[in-house]
Amino acid sequence: MSRPVQFNTHVKFEGIPEGYMGEGFMATNLEKVVSLARKNSIWPLPYATSCCGIEFMATVASHYDLARFGAERMSFSPRQCDLIMVMGTIAKKMGPVLRQVYLQMAEPRWVMAVGACASSGGIFDTYSVLQGIDQVIPVDVYVPGCPPRPEAILDGFMRIQELVNAEGLRRRHSDQYKELMAGYGIQ
Ligand code: SF4
Repeated sequence: MSRPVQFNTHVKFEGIPEGYMGEGFMATNLEKVVSLARKNSIWPLPYATSCCGIEFMATVASHYDLARFGAERMSFSPRQCDLIMVMGTIAKKMGPVLRQVYLQMAEPRWVMAVGACASSGGIFDTYSVLQGIDQVIPVDVYVPGCPPRPEAILDGFMRIQELVNAEGLRRRHSDQYKELMAGYGIQ
């Protein structure tokens, strides 16, 4: 005898974008559909240099399961990723390497500074450590903590999703964005 199928009642479905709907149809605009797709299929590039990277491993593993957010596909090629997650101490010598990786990412791209070291140099107020990755690349979300717990990393990730969802398709061509890039010497 076959058993009844058990459904997980905790599964939440992503809401449909605003629009017009009636029996058998739904109409919305392209920007909302693209934002919905982008937000739920972010490919992260883990740029992990030290201990915060271990918290990231926990975030991706089964208990915290980053895959729930559609982000289980790690991209170790900058050209195919959407979000660079910088986790760990970044030595000044590594600053240009990080910047190079960022420049190789295609637009639209987002940046998350995970932990005190990536955000501000953390406890390493020394001549050799970059005092925050925002000295070399623009950052969208900072996650505090030394190290941040996986819950904090997930919270940061959801804030990135909010940004992705709210971003208009034309933002990357705006004067404001060009000005931001120019501030970092990026054309
Ligand atoms: S913030 Fe703390 S846990 Fe994270 S890399 Fe720096 S020292 Fe390690």
